[in-house]
Amino acid sequence: VGADGQGGWGNARVEPYGPIAMDPAAAVLHYGQEIFEGLKAYRHADGSVWSFRPEANAARFNTSARRLALPELPEETFIESLRQLVAADQDWVPSGDGEALYLRPFMIATEAFLGVRPAREVSYRVIASPAGNYFGGELQPVSIWLSTAYARAGEGGTGEAKCGGNYAASLAAQMEAEAQGCKQVLFLDPFNDNAIEELGGMNIFFVFKDGRLVTPALNGHILHGITRSSVMQLAADRGLKVQERKITIDEWREGVASGEITEAFACGTAAVITPIGELKTAEGTIASPGSGAGEVTMAIREQLLGIQTGVVEDLHGWLTRLV
Ligand code: PMP
Repeated sequence: VGADGQGGWGNARVEPYGPIAMDPAAAVLHYGQEIFEGLKAYRHADGSVWSFRPEANAARFNTSARRLALPELPEETFIESLRQLVAADQDWVPSGDGEALYLRPFMIATEAFLGVRPAREVSYRVIASPAGNYFGGELQPVSIWLSTAYARAGEGGTGEAKCGGNYAASLAAQMEAEAQGCKQVLFLDPFNDNAIEELGGMNIFFVFKDGRLVTPALNGHILHGITRSSVMQLAADRGLKVQERKITIDEWREGVASGEITEAFACGTAAVITPIGELKTAEGTIASPGSGAGEVTMAIREQLLGIQTGVVEDLHGWLTRLV
């Protein structure tokens, strides 16, 4: 789907998937002026196709646009682009258990020049790909690696934006994680006593024995996860006390040792909710109690996936029909 920022977003069209021609001096290739979103379209039993809170993705896209000096996109245009893309070929929305069509809207600066300034020509597109379980195969607790050599974001930086540059900066840490046999990396906030921040592509939650759910407070450079905010709502609905606050590796280690912290999980559009089996650090491993797939984690996961796939009532009006 292409829409040209020049003279409005009016000339949207669906095109066959293929390479994009670009000037070698296009700003995105040199200065990384790019933003993106990730969301899923789920097929329900009656064949209809729905997305989960796309207006939240549209709002976050515009927050990212402002930070990257890109033009904002009207919410209707954002959602209509998803609709048109899915409608172009409905057969590619999978209907298997836990499967969905992953949608990737993005905006890039296409204007060709070499000085450093915001581009005046941009391109907005959406690509899509069928997606199953993010970590492949059956759901199982993930191992994560604690990055201490690298930070994901910093005060005043682009941490709250979903821009390619943040991910470019996280890849060396991801490589380190993989070398340690881990699937994801956990970042700390070096500006706040090394408080736990988030994973490379997910937010993090801890379940306490007394029914509390704790997640790191938004600090100005954690991504505002849409799954994170949904989990907070679903947990509150269940009568769990949700706390957004500072939590450190020491509190995690001591909480697991004393039995106070019973579960840890990661959440995001791609991974939905995935139990954390262990955190590997240079100073040893914190292993989640049991197999890691705790009761609260799995109950919230089932509820959230149930809403997304249309088998649990959508009490919060989170679903938008695409086709
Ligand atoms: N943090 C980061 C760094 C991410 O890339 C993502 C995935 N978008 C998330 C958190 C989770 O956000 P969401 O639930 O909106 O997918």
